[in-house]
Amino acid sequence: MSKAVTLQKTVSLLEDADRLVIVTHVNPDGDAIGSALALAEALRVKGKMVIVTIDDEISSFYKFMPGIDTFVRFSADEQVEADLLVVMDASSLDRIGKVVNCVRAPILNIDHHVSNTGYADYLYLDVMACATGEIVYELLRELSVTISKDMAFCLYVAIVTDCGYFKYSNTTPKCLNYAAELLSIGVQPDVVSDFLEMKSRNDVNLLSKVLETLDFHHNGRIASIMISLENYDADIATDSFIHYPRYIEGVEVAVMFKAVDAEVTRVSMRSRLLDVSRVALSYGGGGHKRAAGFTLQAELAVAKEQTLKRLTEEMDLL
Ligand code: AMP
Ligand code: MN
Ligand code: MN
Repeated sequence: MSKAVTLQKTVSLLEDADRLVIVTHVNPDGDAIGSALALAEALRVKGKMVIVTIDDEISSFYKFMPGIDTFVRFSADEQVEADLLVVMDASSLDRIGKVVNCVRAPILNIDHHVSNTGYADYLYLDVMACATGEIVYELLRELSVTISKDMAFCLYVAIVTDCGYFKYSNTTPKCLNYAAELLSIGVQPDVVSDFLEMKSRNDVNLLSKVLETLDFHHNGRIASIMISLENYDADIATDSFIHYPRYIEGVEVAVMFKAVDAEVTRVSMRSRLLDVSRVALSYGGGGHKRAAGFTLQAELAVAKEQTLKRLTEEMDLL
């Protein structure tokens, strides 16, 4: 089990390290990328050697993020010497892929997932934080770093990604206050939302195909959509697709099934009441009470059947 540490201790662990590797989760989202880039930049300003990495392709969708070109990808046999491996926004170790084998250093995990498995040497976990970016904002203030416009931009992307522009239940007075402070540093909210909301024609074409798969189960309490392998394109951001089943009257749980390989299906869930993080955790995934996901080693139709059966059972227990 990890040693739970305070924010102050987290700051001293970061201050005491000279060479740091920062890694965030595969299939990265705006919180993963934004919080990793902001912390990396701040530590570089403090004179530290920082490598920032993800064991995955980064969708070209995120090319607008300042510093996105600084991400490196390790080869399988690479060995990196460091004083600290900082794992961000990842609730379990498999979420960082092979990076764990490439870096020999104590692990500091900075996270906000209720499903955190306690795998790190040191864990700073704040399940009340709307995003890992919210925690990084607090760290930067404690580290006495002047927050640059680029850092503020990254942190604002992180926060608005995870709280859905202050719509979700994880929106708190604190996260709104921090967002306001980031605006006073110079973040332009319309510029951020134009980047995050912008869709290519291919995105919208895919969305129209995916909406045709909309399906209702359990008397309309569950709605699902599917992305077939034929339609799968790693470079199309599909994170927002789940909003469509989620905001249909009567729907309590929305699920998206995405075939990423013949026998690999990624499952995303959004819920109003059911604790979907527990369902995700039982399948080796994780997340938050109302937004969670996992990956099944199963073909799309099999994954769909199995997940819907399980969700129906869980909802009947409520
Ligand atoms: P998503 O549905 O992919 O947007 O993910 C919703 C939440 O669940 C996010 O906080 C993710 O970090 C988390 N999550 C999704 N998939 C996994 C997984 N395979 N393992 C752990 N956490 C996950
Ligand atoms: Mn994330
Ligand atoms: Mn997050």
